[in-house]
Amino acid sequence: MSETIEKNEKQTLGFEAETKQVLDLVINSLYSNKEIFVRELVSNASDAADKLRFAALSDEALYEGDGELKVRLTVDKEARTLTISDNGIGMTVDEVKQNLGTIAHSGTKKFFESLTGDESKDSQMIGQFGVGFYSGFIVADKVTVQTRKAGEEKESGVKWESAGEGEYSIEPIEKLTRGTDIILHLKEGEDEFLESYRLQGIIHKFSEHLDIPIVMKNENKVDSEGEEKADEPDEITVNSATALWTKAKNELTEDDYNDFYKQTLHDYQDPLAYTHSKVEGNNEYTLLLYVPSKAPFDMWDREATSGVKLYVKRTFIMEGGELMPRYLRFVKGIIDSDSLPLNVSRELLQQSKQIDVLKAGAVKKILSLIEGLSKKDPEKFDTFWAEFGPVLKEGPIEDFKNKDRIAKLLRFASTKTDGQQTVTLASYIENMQEGQDKIYYLTGSAYATVKNSPHLEVFKKKGIEVLLLTDHVDEWLVQHMPEFDGKSLQSVAKGDLDLDTGDKGEVDKKAEDKKDDESLNSVIEQIKKTLDEKVKEVRVSSRLTDSPACLVADEHEMGAHMERIMKAAGQEMPASTPIFEINADHALIQRLKDETDDDRFADLSHLLFEQALLSEGGQLEDPATFVHRLNKLLQSLL
Ligand code: ADP
Repeated sequence: MSETIEKNEKQTLGFEAETKQVLDLVINSLYSNKEIFVRELVSNASDAADKLRFAALSDEALYEGDGELKVRLTVDKEARTLTISDNGIGMTVDEVKQNLGTIAHSGTKKFFESLTGDESKDSQMIGQFGVGFYSGFIVADKVTVQTRKAGEEKESGVKWESAGEGEYSIEPIEKLTRGTDIILHLKEGEDEFLESYRLQGIIHKFSEHLDIPIVMKNENKVDSEGEEKADEPDEITVNSATALWTKAKNELTEDDYNDFYKQTLHDYQDPLAYTHSKVEGNNEYTLLLYVPSKAPFDMWDREATSGVKLYVKRTFIMEGGELMPRYLRFVKGIIDSDSLPLNVSRELLQQSKQIDVLKAGAVKKILSLIEGLSKKDPEKFDTFWAEFGPVLKEGPIEDFKNKDRIAKLLRFASTKTDGQQTVTLASYIENMQEGQDKIYYLTGSAYATVKNSPHLEVFKKKGIEVLLLTDHVDEWLVQHMPEFDGKSLQSVAKGDLDLDTGDKGEVDKKAEDKKDDESLNSVIEQIKKTLDEKVKEVRVSSRLTDSPACLVADEHEMGAHMERIMKAAGQEMPASTPIFEINADHALIQRLKDETDDDRFADLSHLLFEQALLSEGGQLEDPATFVHRLNKLLQSLL
């Protein structure tokens, strides 16, 4: 229930601590780009109009007889005020307190974290973080807000006022028209913002493509003698206020597309690429979709929604989540349907078949856009991959229908790329050794961990390429993509290796020969006894050339890296037991064969096990004992 303020009761309230911090920051550090306050306040006004349009779809009365939505800039040179008004949705008392007295915490924190100290960059970011309203205080020493919610009676208006110094007041007022007026009492020296030409320039620069008219008083209405000219309109519309996406492609330049993107889709940099098309037929729609050149700050936020807006016949309906699959959540833009009914509810829309058709169409267009980059513009594709690669990797997991198409776009690091993610699955297959029929990979938490892993030794020796997968999503990706182009994907840290590359390499042969070596068999048995429940099995390895031992998982087990990810995500995991593989030719294993002292045998076995665990990025259960054992051995060398 909305809290009501008693008539004429004025309350003074303190800002939240963080709000004050943001305020100070905005005022002091963004001064060299002060004109951005116009963009921020006009953009809020335009959002308020969008919200009203949507709400009015189910309740026409909210228009109160005035359906012409506008943003109006008014100056009063005597009072030295600039007022930005809208006839949008307006706010209730509670909403005013909530929206103008507090800031969403996550947004504030992220905003502080992303400050670069470079004023021009920082000022660009401000609108993305939900702190735009406060930009008014850059040029004003007092801000007055008068607002009234659409559909409510005129007595329910609210006046909010603050000098930006830790406090604000709030009181009830009567407001005849719905919507919001933001009145900026300009600071000394900010008179430029009382000049019509200056304001018009700023609007052209920042708000040209908003599809709501931004109007100002027509200065030509009155001639130099003070006579009114009858043929001049009272007001002029400053911006072009057309839905850019409805224009034909050949009428638009790249600058038009880029400006539209920056002005309406809340980014401060040009996009990386865009696609614009009209789909005809019995489900007609227009798409204008962009791939940004930089990942948004909340790309990994589970709650974050995509920046695609749905319009029906030029009317804004909703923004967000359901319009793009999660793996394309970085895409921004507009989908405008000519076929959906205007008076549909959000809930219905989300289940509508026609929406599914729109989504599928949008996904197709974006995938072709990315394919185009990968074929024709490798430099841009690299930028794309660096920003969004790990997100696109969710594609084969989420979108079964487009799995193969997405798989072709993926890039990986491998034992042949020095950490760069440049190998495609197709190029991997091209480089396979004769007789090789699998795509080998190793997962791990970081390139540095995997690149020298003992699991790779035999592959390096034979010159077989191994994909090194270190993105978080990779474990899921390989589970959902058991094969590509008829070749199965195989972890080099799992199962019994069968490197069937035609010539049986010496490492494999040795492993086979060793099967009948009796002293070796008894060492294996003894190690098993020593390590006991820590390992499922001890066996001779065909993977190792230099290291004495390594751990592997059973073919169908989860694998150590995946287990660690699940644990880190708070999943209770029954620890699986690894297989301990030893390199029969290694001097340390030979040494074990000859060891007669049981204690030393045990120490050495444990050390080998613990080393193997460490070298695949695992954690020791009891590091102190490990250090103690190691020191004991080192001391025996002294
Ligand atoms: P953001 O717009 O990024 O959420 P702001 O600080 O600019 O952050 O605004 C905070 C909130 O105040 C908005 O989300 C909106 O709910 C409300 N608001 C601001 N200006 C208006 C307006 N002109 N009409 C209605 N609500 C507004």
